Amino acid sequence: MVRSAVIVGGGIGGLAAAIGLRRVGWVATVIERHPVLDDVGAGISLAANGIRALDVLGVGDTVREAGRYQYAAGTRTPSGRWLARIDGAALERKAGTPIVGTARSVLHQLLRAALPQEALMVGVEVSGVECSGTGPARVACGDTVLDADLVVAADGVGSRLRSQLFPAHPGAVYSGSSVLRAITGNAIDLRTDFELTWGPGVEFGHIAFADGRAEWHAVLTAPAGVRHPDPLREMRRRFGSWHDPIPALLEATRPHDVLHHDMHELATPLPCYIVGAALAARPPPRCRGPAIADNGTDPRPASPPISNRAGIQSCPEPRRHSAGAHSRDPGPPARSARSAPSTAASAHSAPPRRGTS
Ligand SMILES: Cc1cc2nc3c(=O)[nH]c(=O)nc-3n(C[C@H](O)[C@H](O)[C@H](O)COP(=O)(O)OP(=O)(O)OC[C@H]3O[C@@H](n4cnc5c(N)ncnc54)[C@H](O)[C@@H]3O)c2cc1C
Repeated sequence: MVRSAVIVGGGIGGLAAAIGLRRVGWVATVIERHPVLDDVGAGISLAANGIRALDVLGVGDTVREAGRYQYAAGTRTPSGRWLARIDGAALERKAGTPIVGTARSVLHQLLRAALPQEALMVGVEVSGVECSGTGPARVACGDTVLDADLVVAADGVGSRLRSQLFPAHPGAVYSGSSVLRAITGNAIDLRTDFELTWGPGVEFGHIAFADGRAEWHAVLTAPAGVRHPDPLREMRRRFGSWHDPIPALLEATRPHDVLHHDMHELATPLPCYIVGAALAARPPPRCRGPAIADNGTDPRPASPPISNRAGIQSCPEPRRHSAGAHSRDPGPPARSARSAPSTAASAHSAPPRRGTS
């Protein structure tokens, strides 16, 4: 029997889920609300577990090639004194893979490149999921409804689907930390690949990239919502007297490249990863119920992994209906009354293609 998955959210989590599902025979479609994937964010440091996961997805080598190995790393005080040094080569010998630093945009592009064009629909916002537990889940996007055997909620820490599926859950809360970050506008001479510097209530760090640029980030303990008229000037005021290369990193940054976000977290874990008939059923390989996965669950699993339950087989594209159609018979893909979700042409910057009514 064929199986289809709809993945809500085209971030790292959603793209990785789609690649993994497709590798085991599902047809997985990612739905991303942003019409243009402009690869926001700064840098990311991928530890051994992340790189191993990418290996399983078949993209580990390309990410290693594109990234910079974090061999020289450590933690310092604002005056520059080393609190701890990390020998990345020794870690690599132990873990079997280096820690890899890269721009988030690079990671996103490589993940998207591992998916066929038709697997990513951009400019489409999911408004809800209906999950009765007896038939396919129904994913509402605008005037279109997609049927799917599995829905993966990868819509971020502020997940709308999480609040819909777990209405009693308090949701994400402000962590108490706000982060400013940027990628330098040009290459910069760095002696280390990764550093963190700890001061009272603040952390400043950098991740060096393969092309010589670097990301820096400053994590500030601050009330939510505090913003600065000139964020880069504020960073120079706070960190300009800290050890090298911090002033140089700020000097190499263009003011309009500085991002500022408050960080939220799931302080209360979710009770489980799966919602729907899959929860109630024992593994049958052809278990029919939809399953919704999300992160931030209690570490004690309430149910076996999805793959044990969902009966992984090859499957068609998600079935499409107009909103309001209640038939459980999936039938052939149907266009929405107003517009059908778009499929990204390049998954990068192509405008969404709208279906005609
Ligand atoms: C400052 C900072 C630094 C970090 N550094 C690291 C690091 O160095 N290494 C590391 O491993 N991790 C790091 N993390 C954590 C890591 O970045 C996140 O865990 C990861 O990016 C989360 O990816 P995601 O796909 O789950 O969510 P997101 O990246 O938030 O993606 C969710 C996507 O869903 C889309 N979406 C939301 N709602 C809808 C909807 N209704 N319909 C359609 N689309 C929707 C959004 O537009 C978005 O594209 C860091 C996090 C932060 C905040």
